[in-house]
Amino acid sequence: MKLPRSPSRRSFLGGLSVGAATLALASRSRAQVTAEPRKLGVALIGLGGYSQGQLGPALRLTQHCKLAGVVTGSREKGLLWAKEFGFPEKNIYNYDTMARMVDNPEIDIAYVVTPNSLHPQHAIAAAWAGKHVICEKPMANSVADCNAMLAACRVAGVKLSIGYRLHFEPQHQEMMRMARDPAVGPFRTMSGGLAFPIRRRVWRVEKKMAGGGPLMDVGIYCVQAACMAAGVGHGGDATIAITAREHPKTRPEFFLDVEEGLDWTMEFANGARAELMTSYEQGMDRFRAEGPKGWIEFAPAFAYGGLKVTTHRGPLNVPVPQSQQAVQIDDFARCVLDDKPTRVPGELGRRDMIIVEAIYKSAAARGQRIEVKV
Ligand code: NAD
Repeated sequence: MKLPRSPSRRSFLGGLSVGAATLALASRSRAQVTAEPRKLGVALIGLGGYSQGQLGPALRLTQHCKLAGVVTGSREKGLLWAKEFGFPEKNIYNYDTMARMVDNPEIDIAYVVTPNSLHPQHAIAAAWAGKHVICEKPMANSVADCNAMLAACRVAGVKLSIGYRLHFEPQHQEMMRMARDPAVGPFRTMSGGLAFPIRRRVWRVEKKMAGGGPLMDVGIYCVQAACMAAGVGHGGDATIAITAREHPKTRPEFFLDVEEGLDWTMEFANGARAELMTSYEQGMDRFRAEGPKGWIEFAPAFAYGGLKVTTHRGPLNVPVPQSQQAVQIDDFARCVLDDKPTRVPGELGRRDMIIVEAIYKSAAARGQRIEVKV
């Protein structure tokens, strides 16, 4: 992992012990939060498809925060965003100047939305700049990088959250509730998949940038859903056994160093079992969790909206928010304002990377059963 080195970081941390730097950063964050009853400022790092299509629009709907800056390789794009969202041009940074956010009290939260391999360096640079961090999924390309991100945020005294929007989606929340409800749960069998065909060569099919193929990008949603349905958190007290098989490549010339698709099984300590799949060749978006006393089925399961959900009692009709992302980002802003833990912390992103690494390891060993503690 390439760690950011910048004059700002050196001048800010230079001469301070790690403990003193932590205190300085922590008290700075607290002072900003308590002294100014204002909407927190969010800076988006990376203005690609997800920022443009989802996060920018979501930040128009949030109550506790607003878009206050951007980090982008394109000054022109930054100027357009500044005009569109009404933040000053001084709040436009590029990837070399982003450490200077340390001097910008208008930015409280940095949201990392760059390709996966860049998440660690951007999240760590944001933490060193004293900003609370939301990092998109997957948290990083390895557990080791997740550890580095967690350590940096701990030392900097900032909060770290992962962009797991479905934890804030009422129908997924209902699945988690049903799993805990003795009248329904625990669920015993889960199944599902998230897959879509990729035809264009983009960073998502380069191992160096993406860390892997569809598992890193969309399969991780199935990992999340299975853990939600099994009631597994990130406390280090649960054991999951993984077996995985890579799909034979139908386009080996396209999927050079990443998988085209994967099937995998997750067996939980209570006997529950999840059969899951992901692919960049086929299409699928569904998830089902079933126990002896009830079931819930999603199709589509993981989209930004329009989920269709049925349970053993019939269609699930619960009000859903206009934007999953607005609820997710607002919740993190409230965690910062109230100094309380987020329900989607960096530790949850790290848990999923432990599982993802085991899936790849099992697939490489042609389906060897691998147990992990999460
Ligand atoms: P994208 O390719 O559309 O955008 C990536 C952005 O990163 C671009 O603006 C690009 O210019 C910038 N970038 C900076 N350095 C780069 C480099 N060296 N190479 C390539 N691009 C570079 O991707 P996206 O769809 O916006 O995805 C970004 C992140 O958000 C990914 O980690 C992805 O997994 C995540 N994501 C999450 C969701 C969700 O539902 N939570 C949805 C989509 C994407």
